[in-house]
Amino acid sequence: MSNALALLEKVIDPELRAPITELGMVEIRSETEDAIDLKIKLTIVGCPAAQKIERDVRAALESYEFVSLEMSTMNQQERDELKQKLRGGKPARFNPFAQPGNLTQVIFVGSGKGGVGKSTITANLAVALASQGFKVGLLDADIFGYSIPGQLGIKSGPTKVDDLMLPPIAYDVRVMSIGFFVTDNQPIAWRGPMLHRAIEQFLTDVYWGDLDFLVVDLPPGTGDVAISLGQLLPGAKSLVITTPQAAAAQVAERSGSISGQVGGEVLGVIENMSYLQSGSERLEIFGSGGGAAVAAALSKKTGQDVDVLVQLPISSELRAASDIGEPLVVSDPESEMSQLLAGLAKKIAGLPRGLSGKRLDISLR
Ligand code: ADP
Repeated sequence: MSNALALLEKVIDPELRAPITELGMVEIRSETEDAIDLKIKLTIVGCPAAQKIERDVRAALESYEFVSLEMSTMNQQERDELKQKLRGGKPARFNPFAQPGNLTQVIFVGSGKGGVGKSTITANLAVALASQGFKVGLLDADIFGYSIPGQLGIKSGPTKVDDLMLPPIAYDVRVMSIGFFVTDNQPIAWRGPMLHRAIEQFLTDVYWGDLDFLVVDLPPGTGDVAISLGQLLPGAKSLVITTPQAAAAQVAERSGSISGQVGGEVLGVIENMSYLQSGSERLEIFGSGGGAAVAAALSKKTGQDVDVLVQLPISSELRAASDIGEPLVVSDPESEMSQLLAGLAKKIAGLPRGLSGKRLDISLR
């Protein structure tokens, strides 16, 4: 292999997370011991990663005395070849998560009502799984209350390579959200079929790569989105979030049993805002017992052994970290809350899951 190509193997496309040499982005025009003339072909005009790639290419080639570098864009044929490669030879409009033998564990995170901390926990859980070495995608399907981009500090949406969307990556998590497609914070008034199509596109037209986990933030309660997702992701398992309040627990139980129906197995219940630690005292601001009640009811309804996986305290740090777009598990991994969330991620990753450990059939290599 040419010396320059070997050096450029270390330059990673930040959106595709693969060496630019493997993505067909490098064309070496001439090469001698001290001079190199090359062209870097970006996927699209105005590629947001262009500057970073150029910087990294120049850094990788610093041992050359003369570097002539042209930054350009792929032509249609080159782009088609790249898309083909990214899709692992599969046709467009292919939902990799619905295939038999698909080994990505899909986790729906649901709650009976809004405001119980579902999105906050989903964001932190996804980031905690990624920091434990798993490949993680996060699909924000909370159509009416999407908040994941804000929680993860994501400022720009996916890059479109023709009909293929490259999701932004935050804290090593690939993220897609309906929020990327909304301008001026307009509420979305989509009806069933359109909604179904939008959700489907998030699975078929997005380059997710080979994921260990796809975590899905569901809208609260039950509805068209949960039903569409249940059909599109038949092997998904569910987490149900509730607060300790009896009223919240009742609605969580109802939605949990539905998500159990649409999403298969219920992995467990998370009780959030369980208590406020004040010195040595635990103040039960929102009452107690909600998580246990939901777990007991779901165990009875589903015939599975559903447990409360964790009780999370009220934590102003958790809220503050989400508000500034930096999840607590990253900004303060040593805090008690982060340790609980990391423990939850470990527990979920360790739950038995049939066909674990193998890779999805979408790979660049
Ligand atoms: P949902 O997705 O269920 O609607 P969010 O995740 O948006 O809920 O959380 C609602 C609000 O509660 C947010 O401001 C969030 O920061 C805050 N919050 C969530 N969990 C906790 C907690 N354990 N302690 C303190 N605040 C929390």
